Amino acid sequence: MLKNPRNKCLVCQSPLVGRRDKRFCTDSCRSIHHQQLKKELPPVIKRVNQILLSNREILAELNPEGKKTLSRDTLLRKGFDFRHFTHQVRTRTGNTYQFCYDQGYIIFEDDKVVLVRQEQETPKRK
Ligand SMILES: [Zn+2]
Repeated sequence: MLKNPRNKCLVCQSPLVGRRDKRFCTDSCRSIHHQQLKKELPPVIKRVNQILLSNREILAELNPEGKKTLSRDTLLRKGFDFRHFTHQVRTRTGNTYQFCYDQGYIIFEDDKVVLVRQEQETPKRK
């Protein structure tokens, strides 16, 4: 059982009385919570999310050092889907990189692909 140290209902935030492991003020708040958990994303969103995550995995696996040149075929054989990426980054020299989250790539005319990695942002301290 998850503890609810805030002593507030997870749904409506009203204060909880009674047992310490209580998470909801009423049965109706409990059922709202469970309905929210069950709510599924539309299939098209799930499918694209899966492709993006899979693309990112492939890039990360092939590019452990943060920079790598390989052929387009290598990515295709791994199941990479070139139609889906999260964003593009245009460099000062006019090249456009496609990114799947932190993992990026650029395709050159001879079907060589250069993989790059976005620098990790240092988390800000409080
Ligand atoms: Zn409640």
